Amino acid sequence: MLFTTPTTPTAPTTPPTPTTPLTPTIAAPPPPTAPTAPAAATPTTPTTTLTRQIKDYALEIGYSKVGITTADDFTQFADILTARGDAYDFWTHGPLKPIENARIRTVQPFARSIIALVYDFACTSFPPELCALMGRVYQSRSYFSPPTNINGARLELMKQFLADKNVRSDNNLWIPQRWVAARAGVTTFGKNCCSYAGDDIGSFIVINTLIVDAELDYDTPTYESLCPANCHRCIDACPTKALYAPYTIDPRRCVGFLNWMTVPGRGFGITEKIPLDLRPLMAQRIHGCDACQEACPRNHKKLTTPLPLDSFLEEVKVDLTLENLLHMPAGFYETRVRPVMYNYIRDHRIFQCNAAVAIGNTHDPYYLPHLAQELGNSSKMIRAHVAWALGQLQSGEANALLQKHLLAEKDEWVREETALALEVR
Ligand code: SF4
Ligand code: SF4
Repeated sequence: MLFTTPTTPTAPTTPPTPTTPLTPTIAAPPPPTAPTAPAAATPTTPTTTLTRQIKDYALEIGYSKVGITTADDFTQFADILTARGDAYDFWTHGPLKPIENARIRTVQPFARSIIALVYDFACTSFPPELCALMGRVYQSRSYFSPPTNINGARLELMKQFLADKNVRSDNNLWIPQRWVAARAGVTTFGKNCCSYAGDDIGSFIVINTLIVDAELDYDTPTYESLCPANCHRCIDACPTKALYAPYTIDPRRCVGFLNWMTVPGRGFGITEKIPLDLRPLMAQRIHGCDACQEACPRNHKKLTTPLPLDSFLEEVKVDLTLENLLHMPAGFYETRVRPVMYNYIRDHRIFQCNAAVAIGNTHDPYYLPHLAQELGNSSKMIRAHVAWALGQLQSGEANALLQKHLLAEKDEWVREETALALEVR
């Protein structure tokens, strides 16, 4: 899921006072009336003209929706995030400074308005083989950086358009994009903490935001939730119970977080050791998870509408196997992994650990020789997760390998994992 334009691991927070779903009403048709003279046209101001030009250009270059809001503070977002306490320490104390940056004008004094750009990335289909491994947003390569990526190039075009209109813009500050998009009237929140851009598009979107120095016409916020009151399918579908209440998630349990935030040196109690109790719940997911979006009826139309094949994904899916991800042969990371999943993980050993966990969860003896090979990897992080995976195979051959390894292994953590793997029954 996630957490939107690939930025930080999903760190959604409760939207402002979710209301009950709007009750659909069917209005009686109005009685026929006598034709009236056309109303006088509203005078067009320079602000209105500029607003129209910005929106038209955004749609012209492929954004699906565009809205505009003020540069007022996102006070409620900051308050909620603060109240979540240590669950978000890794983020609030990190370089993105989400609480400080919620005071938009303080951190960017030229700010007058914010443009919210929504891109529907699910315009081509996603191979089921890859959906088992990773979130759709990563398959879509919707990163806005570097500018040579298609979504990065689109954002650069937008910024150039603004510059040509003498409008300064800034997209370098992390600001609460989902809240911006809701306040700009282009998305609504879901109980799964995702943003929804209507029933046709659903939640498979990325949001780009641009802080600008121009006063513009502002859209009406759409803070309300359109989730049915009694629906909790997303919460039921969450494999790790990261999503534990409407609009509320413990990011530290989210599969995406476990895939890319459990790295050395993170701090805040987070280590490179994927928690033992959560590993079996991760299935084959090596880079993000869409379970809470796949279960959602608000995505039904998008998920059931046939879409054209994505030629690039059809090409790479053949190579993106768990074996290759585990071994990471020469050139594989550069040509197959990074073009699809480069946003969060820059250290290929993290992918190898994720692949080891994914293989362990298959319980398939086919992988035994592959795991045996990586038990000799020079990285203790990889050896530790491989030992766990071997334990999940629960075979005499795997246990013999583990016993032999226990005699030779020098690292304390790997020895501990190996001993634990031998206890699996
Ligand atoms: S289903 Fe759960 S683990 Fe998967 S992305 Fe949603 S919150 Fe995270
Ligand atoms: S599954 Fe139901 S509750 Fe969850 S986001 Fe979708 S509509 Fe809302």
